[in-house]
Amino acid sequence: MTDLGARHYAETKSYPLTDSSGAVISAIETITDITDKRKLEEQLRQAQKMEAVGTLAGGVAHDFNNILTAIIGYATLSKMKMQADDPQRASIDQILSSAERAAHLTQSLLAFSRKQIINPKPVNLNDIVKGVEKLLQRLIGEDIELSTRLAGADLVVMADAGQIEQVLMNLATNARDAMPDGGVITLTTQGLDLDEDFMKVHGFGNPGRYAVISVSDTGCGMDEATREKIFEPFFTTKELGRGTGLGLAIVYGIVKQHNGNIAAYSEPGKGTTFRMYLPLITSSVEEPPALPAAPPLGGTETILLAEDDKDVRSLTMAVLQGFGYHVIEAVDGQDALAKFRKHMADIDLLLVDVVMPKIGGRDVYDAAKTIRPGIKVLFSSGYPADIIHKKGIVDEGLQFISKPVRPGDLLRKVREVLDEKP
Ligand code: ADP
Ligand code: MG
Repeated sequence: MTDLGARHYAETKSYPLTDSSGAVISAIETITDITDKRKLEEQLRQAQKMEAVGTLAGGVAHDFNNILTAIIGYATLSKMKMQADDPQRASIDQILSSAERAAHLTQSLLAFSRKQIINPKPVNLNDIVKGVEKLLQRLIGEDIELSTRLAGADLVVMADAGQIEQVLMNLATNARDAMPDGGVITLTTQGLDLDEDFMKVHGFGNPGRYAVISVSDTGCGMDEATREKIFEPFFTTKELGRGTGLGLAIVYGIVKQHNGNIAAYSEPGKGTTFRMYLPLITSSVEEPPALPAAPPLGGTETILLAEDDKDVRSLTMAVLQGFGYHVIEAVDGQDALAKFRKHMADIDLLLVDVVMPKIGGRDVYDAAKTIRPGIKVLFSSGYPADIIHKKGIVDEGLQFISKPVRPGDLLRKVREVLDEKP
């Protein structure tokens, strides 16, 4: 292989020329520029690596979620039963705040592995940027100037506004860390037509109209070797305690989950620019309805609870029973169906885990529905987005709740589903 200079690769082939006796008298050499091929291979390798790390992180996060559901749930339950002046309250609060921190970390890993439940709606990116500007300014401090230049036209994308805010906050935090002596962060938005060639060169998805958000800083920049690793979870060049290496992994996961792409341009000493591309849509922005959280309420209905994780199951039972419900428990999908057939006339609601051994929650519901067409259901899962989407639960407007489930949220959701008009 011959190096054709900066960022170019060549493949050299030699074809020997022989005389009538078969002796080599000369050779023809061909040189092919295989830069594009090498780039594509590199992109593929990178994508596969991110996929593998994502699967690992998602798996750990899933199991962790079940454990945290039990910890947070039981701690909350104990607190609910305590008198206001109980001396143990402070300890319970410590357990809860540590568990919340762990839940936060789990959430980060789920975000990276694109297994977080997101709530996409048509939103104008310019509005999101305007809404988060003050917060960003506070985050980066007074020595750094924040300059925003927004596209004149609305940039409507299908996005979860909270997630996009998270992306901007993570990028701004990194930009701040790269400019310890102050500098400028420039945030711009624009609409762009991206053609086939552009998408190919960058290894992105389909050509079309995109919204581009870019975040530039005038900081220390980074070399090529660093830039290649920045989106990997736990990759950090910051000292212990300063960086977790999760900021850009979260950014990457969120952007991908929004069917977008992200690229970083940087050189040591010359600052850094992150450019995010999100597909534009044509529909308009809908006003989000404000939903005040109602206090948790109980009931006297009968719930068939199917959950294979023992800790989560007994916690859920304790919460529901504590608030007056009658609960029939099932340890997996098969057990759930058997119990459903036995107590069919009494059951008001199925509360089923989506992922269970033998028979999954979706199939339990489908089978139950053939027996009792109007039966109500609430799905739960610690492994949300992709599996649930695949099984069409969300598309059909069926209700689900993601783990770790807080007791208050569970009670509210159960009441909501039970109170739905058939
Ligand atoms: P953390 O900030 O915790 O280190 P991130 O995932 O947010 O983790 O970033 C990973 C690494 O990418 C950083 O440690 C740093 O080396 C590099 N990096 C990210 N953003 C910038 C930037 N704006 N300028 C220079 N380096 C950056
Ligand atoms: Mg960071």
